[in-house]
Amino acid sequence: MPISDPRGRREPSPSGAAVATPVHSRLTVLSGPSGVGKSTVIAELGRTCPEIWISVSVTTRRPRPGEVDGREYHFVDDTEFDRLIASGALLEWARFAGNRYGTPRAPLYERLEAGVSCLLEIDLAGARQVKRAVPDARLVFLAPPSWDELVRRLSGRGTEPAEVLERRLAVAREELAAADEFEVTLVNTSVKDVCRQLVALMQQCDLRKAECGRDSGPPSRRRHHQPADRRAS
Ligand code: 5GP
Repeated sequence: MPISDPRGRREPSPSGAAVATPVHSRLTVLSGPSGVGKSTVIAELGRTCPEIWISVSVTTRRPRPGEVDGREYHFVDDTEFDRLIASGALLEWARFAGNRYGTPRAPLYERLEAGVSCLLEIDLAGARQVKRAVPDARLVFLAPPSWDELVRRLSGRGTEPAEVLERRLAVAREELAAADEFEVTLVNTSVKDVCRQLVALMQQCDLRKAECGRDSGPPSRRRHHQPADRRAS
C-alpha cells in the first residue's frame, strides 16, 4: 500500500493527529452526514478539476462493488490500520459505523508544501481533529436539502444492511447538529452547483493568500475573512 511514513512529526497525539504541522491555508475539508453525496461531489471534482488534489483515505471497511483499492480508499485490515496509527502516518482517524477511516499524512503534506490546493472528504470527528492540527484549514459542511431526502438517499443506496443503515442515520442526526462548527455550509441540491461553489471557495482562498503574501506566516497571524456561517444553496 503506497502510504509513506510521516515527516517532521514531533509526537503523536492519542488520536494520531498532527502536533507539528506545516502552515497551510490551501487545505479544505468537506464533511457532512453519510449519504449526503460527498463522494459524488468528490468524484465530479476529480473529473473536472485536476488541479485540486483529493486525498485518498485508509479504511478498514470492505470495498463496495465497483470500488477500487487506491482510488476510493486504501483498503486495509485492522492490523495495518493499527500500524499506521502507531507510526503516526495518519493526520487524523475516526471510527464510523463500525469501521475505521484515516487520512494519510505524508502525501497530503507533500502537496500542501508544493502549493497545491488539497481537499479531504472526512467525517465530523475527523474534521474536528484536522481543525485542531491545521487551524487554517477551511471546513465546509455539505448539507442535504432535507432530512427526508437524506433518508431516501441513504436507503436508496442499497449497499448497507439494515443495522448499518440505522447506525449511519443515527450518526447523521448528530452530524447535522454540528453544522454550526463549519465556516461554510453548502446545500447539495445539485452536484454541479456544489462543485462550482467549492472550487470558487478554494480559489478565493488561494487569491487571498497571494494578496496577503502570507504563504509561510504562522497561523495566528493570518486573517480569516470568511463569514462565520455562510450558507450557499
Ligand atoms: P463510506 O463508508 O460511506 O465511504 O464513508 C463513511 C464516512 O467516513 C463518511 O462520512 C466519510 O466522509 C468518512 N470518511 C472517509 N474517509 C475518512 C477519513 O479519512 N477520515 C475520517 N475521519 N472520516 C472519513
